[in-house]
Amino acid sequence: MTTGIIFNIQRYSIHDGPGIRTTVFLKGCPLSCWWCQNPESQLSGQEMIFWGDRCISCGACSAICPSSAIQIKNGIPITEKEKCILCGKCIEKCPALAREMIGKKMTVESVIKEIEKDLVFYEESDGGVTFSGGEPLGQSEFLESLLNACQEKKIHTAVDTSGYISWEILEKVAPKVNLFLYDLKIMDSERHRKYTGVSNEIILENLKKLSSAYHNISVRFPVIPGINDDDQNIRETGEFLSSLKITQVNLLPYHYIGIDKYKRLGRTYKLVITQPPSEEKLSEISGILSKFNLKVKLRG
Ligand code: SF4
Ligand code: SF4
Repeated sequence: MTTGIIFNIQRYSIHDGPGIRTTVFLKGCPLSCWWCQNPESQLSGQEMIFWGDRCISCGACSAICPSSAIQIKNGIPITEKEKCILCGKCIEKCPALAREMIGKKMTVESVIKEIEKDLVFYEESDGGVTFSGGEPLGQSEFLESLLNACQEKKIHTAVDTSGYISWEILEKVAPKVNLFLYDLKIMDSERHRKYTGVSNEIILENLKKLSSAYHNISVRFPVIPGINDDDQNIRETGEFLSSLKITQVNLLPYHYIGIDKYKRLGRTYKLVITQPPSEEKLSEISGILSKFNLKVKLRG
């Protein structure tokens, strides 16, 4: 039975492809973008999240832990990740719901069952299911089985990818995908490496190959103030996309709704928090990209 690790299934999504969609988030990502608002997506396995504001310092988690992984210091339970075996006993015992496991092993059948709950909305809105992450192609066998099942049931599918994956995997999965949401972030490779953890050659090369064989690609460009919203990067992005005969690009304005998650996961948010881009800036970017014969859409 094919299984995968899912960290969220979000129903009634309206920004992850056409119509009303169910977005299935697969865990694990080869990138670690500074602005990532889903840090719980990055590691491929399960992990624990701690809600400090809910904790009542009762110590029950520490007492039950079979690995002695939790020490109470100044009333705060500190978990040593190296010792934790993710047994989940502390979660069951916590009276304040301050501990939560992120990531759930699911079978293809159980995911499809969830997806099918909203069939009526897909039919009414020309929607479907979007596989996102993390990097959904990182669990390629699981993703392929999900796509096969959706194809059989005539459910429209979209795959939201960073493009940072081997061409062999992308080529194999591509015929089963109705729409690619392909993320493009920074054209300069060194700058890309600095802010995402990887260089961009594979991403650009894959988009070239994919777009030469398929036309069902919508490029998504996250607008991160001070990181990738400069004229040069926008122009180079426009030039590159128009050379590939890509016709649509969606601008995804930066937001910081998810930054509290970093603290709960015991990680550091590297980006200095800035305000989301102004409407003026977005229309300026849109204007530059339009000159490359690109249809520019905000969000979606
Ligand atoms: S999940 Fe299990 S091993 Fe990990 S901290 Fe909780 S009780 Fe301890
Ligand atoms: S069991 Fe829950 S409320 Fe009690 S100390 Fe642990 S995390 Fe805090």
